Amino acid sequence: MSDCVFCKIANKEMGKLVYEDETVAAFDDLNPQAPVHVLIVPKRHIARISDVANGEDATLMGHILVVANEIARERGITENGYRIVVNCNEDAGQSVWHVHFHLLGGRKMNWPPG
Ligand code: AMP
Ligand code: ZN
Repeated sequence: MSDCVFCKIANKEMGKLVYEDETVAAFDDLNPQAPVHVLIVPKRHIARISDVANGEDATLMGHILVVANEIARERGITENGYRIVVNCNEDAGQSVWHVHFHLLGGRKMNWPPG
């Protein structure tokens, strides 16, 4: 998707990656909501988590969770804890239409979310 900002970041046309492999990229959120706020995305454009409907996509999403765990460990937030969030569509507040997993940590968080 040529006009998708997260495709551009994942393809290294803009921004700076903190992690990448063949299928996944990660970068710091532009407007961090916690001391650690990293976005982890599939390199392949998938608009929203509700579009994930087959085994290949499910494997990719599982891989993203493993990468989130690795980044959490690197950033030193594993022991205290962290939150992984995916917002889907309007009610959840999704604002960028390329699936992204928020990795948030480094501070105490509230529940339920707003
Ligand atoms: P969501 O509301 O779940 O769709 O989250 C979108 C996130 O993307 C927000 O936390 C934004 O701060 C972040 N964001 C938007 N544009 C960029 C960008 N160019 N680089 C990094 N993060 C971005
Ligand atoms: Zn995209």
